[in-house]
Amino acid sequence: MAQSTKGRLNYRCPSCFMRDLDLDMFYDEEKKEYYCLRCQYVGSEEDVLQKNQMARFRYKDMLKRFDRFDFD
Ligand SMILES: [Zn+2]
Repeated sequence: MAQSTKGRLNYRCPSCFMRDLDLDMFYDEEKKEYYCLRCQYVGSEEDVLQKNQMARFRYKDMLKRFDRFDFD
């Protein structure tokens, strides 16, 4: 495997996703980090997953308005 490979899973870039861009990130095996070629986002798998969830949450709810959060 030379240079950049795609990760085992194709994670989309949370940062780009916020801007309506659906981009797969690349994986740096040495650093164990995912990175985006477009927006300079770099993060561990954990970070990516977490941010992706946030992005999805926000994106999905962008049409709605929240005054408060109900987690129960
Ligand atoms: Zn990006």
